[in-house]
This record gives sequence, C-alpha cells and structure tokens, in this order.
Amino acid sequence: MTVQTEEKMVKGYEIKSITCDVCKKVVDYTGGMGIEEFIFISHQAGYDSIFGDGNHIYCDICQDCLKKLLEQYLRIEEISSFPNKK
Ligand SMILES: [Zn+2]
Repeated sequence: MTVQTEEKMVKGYEIKSITCDVCKKVVDYTGGMGIEEFIFISHQAGYDSIFGDGNHIYCDICQDCLKKLLEQYLRIEEISSFPNKK
C-alpha cells in the first residue's frame, strides 16, 4: 500500500489564553502554569431545565475558584500511580 499525501493550508483558531469566568484571571496558553487545571463546563439543558429548554451552559473555571466555590462538594480520589506525583 502506498500512501498519497498533499500539502494543505489549514485555517483555524489557536488558543492564546483562557479567562476564568469567576475571578477573570487570564492564563496564557503558551507556558502558563495552571491552564491544564482549568475546568470547562459545557452542558446542554434538557426540557424543564431551570436554565431554559435546550439552552447550552458554559463556564470556564480556574482551579483556585473551583476549590473556593465547590471544595466541600468535590469527591477527590487520590491516584497513587500518577507519574511524578508530589
Ligand atoms: Zn478563577
């Protein structure tokens, strides 16, 4: 089998930064610590939702705000086999 290729110019978007919807902290995508710890909520509400039938809910939250707002409700499982765990 021979694979055929062609060069293409791809137009798209590149993420530059993410802003926490709660505290408005902006984290640079290139080299910024903590960007991988953002939590992205994306949910489509169903019928009879308090958010409106079929509406979509989005929220980007930094780890600091997640902890501050929801720590008492989070179920945190410790993973002992996580590589390079501190
Ligand atoms: Zn935040």
